[in-house]
Amino acid sequence: MQDSYGRTIDYLRIAVTEACNFRCLYCAPNGYTEPTHSPLSVDEIVRVVRAAVALGVTKIRLTGGEPLLRRDIVEIVRALAGVEGVRDLAMTTNGFLLARLARELADAGLRRVNISLDTLRRERFARIVGVDAFDAVWSGILAAEEAGLAPLKLNMVAMRDINDDEFSDFARLTLAHAWHVRFIELMPVGVSAAAREFFARHFIPANELIARLPELARSDSPQGNGPARTFRLPDARATIGFITPASEHFCNACNRLRVTARGALCTCLFAERGTDVRGALCEGVSQAALQALLARAIGDKPASHPFGAEYAIQADAMSKIGG
Ligand code: SAM
Ligand code: SF4
Repeated sequence: MQDSYGRTIDYLRIAVTEACNFRCLYCAPNGYTEPTHSPLSVDEIVRVVRAAVALGVTKIRLTGGEPLLRRDIVEIVRALAGVEGVRDLAMTTNGFLLARLARELADAGLRRVNISLDTLRRERFARIVGVDAFDAVWSGILAAEEAGLAPLKLNMVAMRDINDDEFSDFARLTLAHAWHVRFIELMPVGVSAAAREFFARHFIPANELIARLPELARSDSPQGNGPARTFRLPDARATIGFITPASEHFCNACNRLRVTARGALCTCLFAERGTDVRGALCEGVSQAALQALLARAIGDKPASHPFGAEYAIQADAMSKIGG
């Protein structure tokens, strides 16, 4: 399916819960709030995915909140792996519960994971995510590798004065491990003064980051749906990518849709609100009508987001919209 700007839409990210066991500084700069809505059920998720696949979506990513907090996450994975037409089934996770679940998830049909890791230092880790859990996450990464969830990517949100002295340590991880490192530019989340101040103080443009890693050479991307600019260190086992939502729009190549845990379909991360898919499901919408609802939303996908000094993601937490 193409949108009205000729972009092929083939990638759906689903937030399976708003809940999280971490409190990352950058995800909810206004403060974390407990979810007040129940998330979409397994059946509702499967129906939305079937409708999206009928329109040409082939790649699904489960995200959140923390997807591994769902007690039925293995069931969700198994159900989606069984939907004909789903060719790539991936997950973004904080990794805390992965040591326990990686094997079961792989057996259920999960292909690969992105694991968020913003520092390699234990104490700093606890300060950034609010939980002293570095060792658990590290075990989760090893378990994911062991379970064959590949290509395995580590997402590092780059932040001035928080973790900007670790870029080369992260880059060097690719010499020892076949783990692809993705440096992500900080995005402004929420419209409060505190949120804006956090962004202004800690944002680092990718070009500055790249300049601090002079040994990098351009490289092809491993499997993925993302807009990363990809590089490699000489003799490395994996790539290093930069995701630049702030300094360099990739809206003209945007292939994605999002469904929030509350069941809103958003065609842009910066959308103020989405299409109420859950409402339609609750009213007993037919599969054909559900598909038509998705098709209409795709038709209305905006050309780009209005990024600028004054603009910010409207949701008050990334965990609510699915990152
Ligand atoms: N809980 C899971 C995790 O942390 O991997 C999945 C959800 S999280 C919202 C998805 C991704 O969004 C993570 O890689 C996280 O680092 C990223 N993220 C959250 N807030 C961000 C922000 N303000 N700027 C850039 N990336 C952000
Ligand atoms: Fe939780 Fe992920 Fe947000 Fe961190 S980035 S608070 S792990 S949802």
